[in-house]
Amino acid sequence: MRRDFATTRRVLVTGGAGFLGSHLCDALLDAGHDVLCADNFFTGTRDNIVHLKDHPRFEFMRHDVTFPLYVEVDEIYNLACPASPIHYQHDPVQTTKTSVHGAINVLGLAKRLRARIFQASTSEVYGDPTVHPQPESYWGNVNPIGQRACYDEGKRCAETLFFDYHRQHGLEIKVARIFNTYGPRMHPKDGRVISNFIVRALCGEPLPIHGDGSQTRSFCYVDDLIPAFLRFMETPAEEPGPLNLGNPVEYTILDLAETVVRLTGSSSRIEHRPRPADDPAQRRPEIGKARALIGFEPSVPLEEGLARTVHDLRARLRM
Ligand code: NAD
Ligand code: UDP
Ligand code: UDP
Repeated sequence: MRRDFATTRRVLVTGGAGFLGSHLCDALLDAGHDVLCADNFFTGTRDNIVHLKDHPRFEFMRHDVTFPLYVEVDEIYNLACPASPIHYQHDPVQTTKTSVHGAINVLGLAKRLRARIFQASTSEVYGDPTVHPQPESYWGNVNPIGQRACYDEGKRCAETLFFDYHRQHGLEIKVARIFNTYGPRMHPKDGRVISNFIVRALCGEPLPIHGDGSQTRSFCYVDDLIPAFLRFMETPAEEPGPLNLGNPVEYTILDLAETVVRLTGSSSRIEHRPRPADDPAQRRPEIGKARALIGFEPSVPLEEGLARTVHDLRARLRM
């Protein structure tokens, strides 16, 4: 395998102009690698990677992963896929195509190159979980015909493809199931709960809570997450995952709204809206496997991570 011959590798990051992808590009460059970032700018932006424009080891190509890609790399991180419910439900057929055709193309590429490949899977594979917290062994509770299915089932099918390429073609795969992650560079119009609440609070607009706000999520700060991608990639070939990555501290959405209002010093009210269909009632990662395998231990408390995210959104909204 080519990765054995060089410590500096040429790494492809699909979805590299997105929130997580751009932080991953930074981390890989910091680790001394060459980075090829491929993105179609569906939800990602040039702004996220503008600071890398003149970096001698960074290259960008505009590319949609639903089409084949012929490049020469040693390692692949597949992150291309809209992650916010608003965005992935905007064109659900394209969302499934991105996960499924995208996975086939990057896996075909990895197979030709014998390159190790990482998949950004998601806690959404557990759906509306009946087991809490969620261990990797839980098979999930997903509605296959609901409005979230394009994302959840697309990601589940991508996991199937990764494990079949692994078993059938001997590919070295690393499948990470990422739980809700937030931080600087989230798009102000991303629509996910943290960025939405912060933007609304900064603008003095009401914070929309779906339902009574008793549903829970566990929020991981981006700087706790990204180094774990690189560490997981370095684990032995016998460790394909899936591996839960997220912060195990759980909050209700109502708690989150109140914390954002307090941290921003906003006068925004809380407004209750109908709960979207199939919205998971609770979510918290069981991270024992990641602790044992890569020493994963998220350390940024929610209030600190939120303060850094508020700072970033304030600057980008010029407020
Ligand atoms: P994001 O929307 O900011 O980034 C996704 C990137 O993929 C964007 O740059 C977008 O333009 C690009 N993209 C979308 N469709 C594409 C296509 N067909 N071809 C090429 N590029 C395409 O979201 P994110 O939060 O950075 O998520 C990155 C990855 O991590 C996604 O695969 C997502 O499913 C996964 N993930 C994220 C979270 C989270 O909480 N942030 C949680 C679980 C999984
Ligand atoms: N592919 C790609 N780049 C490559 C090799 C393959 O994009 O360097 C795509 C191509 O679209 C192919 C898919 O990956 O159809 C799956 O490749 P694989 O070799 O598994 O199967 P094939 O369809 O070629 O039999
Ligand atoms: N949510 C909310 N108000 C918003 C955005 C989201 O109450 O403005 C809720 C949403 O219904 C869900 C939780 O917050 O229960 C997390 O939503 P998000 O879209 O961030 O992520 P996901 O549902 O994919 O975990």
